[in-house]
Amino acid sequence: MKRKRQISVFDTTLRDGEQCPGASLGVPEKVQIARQLEKLGVDVIEAGFPAGSPADFAAVQRIAGDVRRTRVAGLARCLEDDIILAADALAPAGKRARLHVFLATSPIHRERKLGMSRRDVLRSVAAGVRMARRYFEDVQFSAEDATRTEPAFLAEVARAALGEGASTFNVPDTVGYTVPEEFARLLAGLREAVPELDRAALHVHCHNDLGLAAANTLAAIGAGATGFEATVNGIGERAGNCALEEVVMALHTRSDRYGAQTRIQTRELAATSRLVSHLTGMMVPRNKAIVGANAFAHEAGIHQDGVLKDRRTYEIMRPADIGVAEPEELVLGRHSGRAGFAAHLRGMGLRLEAAHVKSLYEAFIDLADRKTVVYDDDLVSLLRERLSDVPAVYTLAGLRVETGSGRAKARVRLEREGRTHAGAATGEGPVEAVLTAIGEATGVRGELLSFVLQAVTRGGDAIGEASVQVRFGGRTVSAKGSDLDIVRATAKAYLNALNRHLCAAEGGAGV
Ligand code: MN
Repeated sequence: MKRKRQISVFDTTLRDGEQCPGASLGVPEKVQIARQLEKLGVDVIEAGFPAGSPADFAAVQRIAGDVRRTRVAGLARCLEDDIILAADALAPAGKRARLHVFLATSPIHRERKLGMSRRDVLRSVAAGVRMARRYFEDVQFSAEDATRTEPAFLAEVARAALGEGASTFNVPDTVGYTVPEEFARLLAGLREAVPELDRAALHVHCHNDLGLAAANTLAAIGAGATGFEATVNGIGERAGNCALEEVVMALHTRSDRYGAQTRIQTRELAATSRLVSHLTGMMVPRNKAIVGANAFAHEAGIHQDGVLKDRRTYEIMRPADIGVAEPEELVLGRHSGRAGFAAHLRGMGLRLEAAHVKSLYEAFIDLADRKTVVYDDDLVSLLRERLSDVPAVYTLAGLRVETGSGRAKARVRLEREGRTHAGAATGEGPVEAVLTAIGEATGVRGELLSFVLQAVTRGGDAIGEASVQVRFGGRTVSAKGSDLDIVRATAKAYLNALNRHLCAAEGGAGV
């Protein structure tokens, strides 16, 4: 039997994935996702863009020190300041640090965005990689918009980057423009023109603008790419990035075709998907490949009959392979001790500080009193509230809502620095009434751009999670809130958005 090729998985959920509107994550949330990515078995975690913002710097630094085995990458432009900041942020990762340096290479980017000639670009690539190598052993270069770059010029760029000591050359389809046959040809041509690539890692980074990210990634792997970049659930700018779980399961299911394997523990895919979806508030469509709620549901009678006789009639993957199970019920009750509770959290892949375990345990005991069954996803929802770094400018001290016949009525009581602010309002429904009452109490009015309410688990007594996008003046802010009462969940989400807005407006650490 032929030995399988090892394909390396570079996860960019925390960098490119987090760039999608509404998905912004706080540092503690990013750390939890990084821990789960390590458990999932990705080869590299791209933790952020240290020069992008102080919060990004902090996240990269925390993850670099927290993750134990996985390589941690930080993004940088070909600029000395970016590279020095990245070196500081990645220092805690020691030898596991990777610098990911990039420059756009396509004519449209060279001429319209950068104002650089081909020669300027080549010079910057060489200088950028050379500088990066002074601080890092492991340097990856990405040719932004590679798929709209002249192939011969792309080959020159690759030669320049490898010549200065980059060990990974990445070919991004930044705008999701290429198609599988063309992408395969581009990679094959590149390998032919630059034989040095055979001693380096050749990666691809695809976007899903035409719904082809996974197909393009597979075509590239077929043409000799040794690794790929992706995000969990395919989150990312615009239509998103290549979905990690799709390529991993395609390679797994069709190893007859690709003869390739990854180090991914596929049984962690479902849990990772759920964690990312909960923490980002980016919900997974029910019909999403691999991790959607319906991905393994058989509705048609003929299909059900076949599956009952032999699952393989209609199933190409077993749900167990990706860790799909009924929502996990917590076997712990309100009399269980904290040690057992902490062990259960570790079993879920969460490694929490003692203070978080303590506060989560108290919230769990409280929840177990009010709700018949506590599921793992309930715990993740409680945890998200505790990890959130939304500043508590206003806190919700009281809420009364009346609905039924006529207009809904709401009264809110908020606290800020020991003082109470009250507001009352009516509305067509409870949401309008509550938001207007919050506006009365705070004197700040926002426009609700989007509002999604979802039950965290099954059952009429499930926790409700509200995700909102609110515009205050010229700024759009996203936030989440959860509660057993959906109107309270909505009020909390709106208040979190308002607090984020106020903090940023007053020059705090903000988002
Ligand atoms: Mn990208």
